[in-house]
Amino acid sequence: MSGSLTIAGLGPGDAALVTPEVSAALNEATDVLGYAPYVARVPPREGLRLHPSDNRMELARAGEALRLAADGRSVVLVSSGDPGVFAMAAAVFEALETAPQWRDVAIRVLPGVTAMLAAAARAGAPLGHDFCAINLSDNLKPWPTIEKRLRLAAEADFAIALYNPRSASRPEGFGRALDILRDAGCGERLVIFAHAVTTPKERIETVRLDDARPEMADMATLVIVGNSATRQIGRWVYAPRRAS
Ligand code: SAH
Repeated sequence: MSGSLTIAGLGPGDAALVTPEVSAALNEATDVLGYAPYVARVPPREGLRLHPSDNRMELARAGEALRLAADGRSVVLVSSGDPGVFAMAAAVFEALETAPQWRDVAIRVLPGVTAMLAAAARAGAPLGHDFCAINLSDNLKPWPTIEKRLRLAAEADFAIALYNPRSASRPEGFGRALDILRDAGCGERLVIFAHAVTTPKERIETVRLDDARPEMADMATLVIVGNSATRQIGRWVYAPRRAS
């Protein structure tokens, strides 16, 4: 029996934002692997084996998913949001590079609604002009790289989506990121703090960067820093399409 590995995004939280394609893959799966809170979002059923794991186990989890698929199982590896955005899809291909024995495993990557898009939709259209996304976690890249990208993104006048802004193990980074953006002259820019978007704990807050405080973000927050033309109309925040 030939197995398969489907790498799927569960969206930002609301079950209505799981795509029909991902639901179909989950319905056909024999095994679901992923970070425990994401696996907990998969409805259990007879015959489905759930393999929750710890957050930092990404490469090991990717290897395990490939191994199960090579053994003939129908494996779905879940991420939140989109699996290709700071998530498991890249980890699988990293594992594949070092494991030629699994190169014949049938792999599919199914997109999902990434946090940045769900957050932007709640706020209005802050990504309506050019933008970039930066992961503020320095677990897998050096902090100076993050600083450089923040400075250059500010200089290029991109709207900037910040993933993984602040965690208990990295309490300092987000404050430093805000300082870098202030030093780059972005103090007047609008910043959206989108917390737990599409879940019952959702909270959206928009402030000027000069008034932004590190404590406004946690690991369930997606931060969008507007570009220099981003503006507010009533409760909506948008980036004009004709910004210079
Ligand atoms: N693959 C995911 C991102 C994983 S990194 C995606 O495409 O969305 C985890 C980070 O995503 C979190 O620290 C937070 O910045 C963001 N995030 C994920 N879900 C979120 C949600 N419902 N609301 C706000 N931010 C979210």
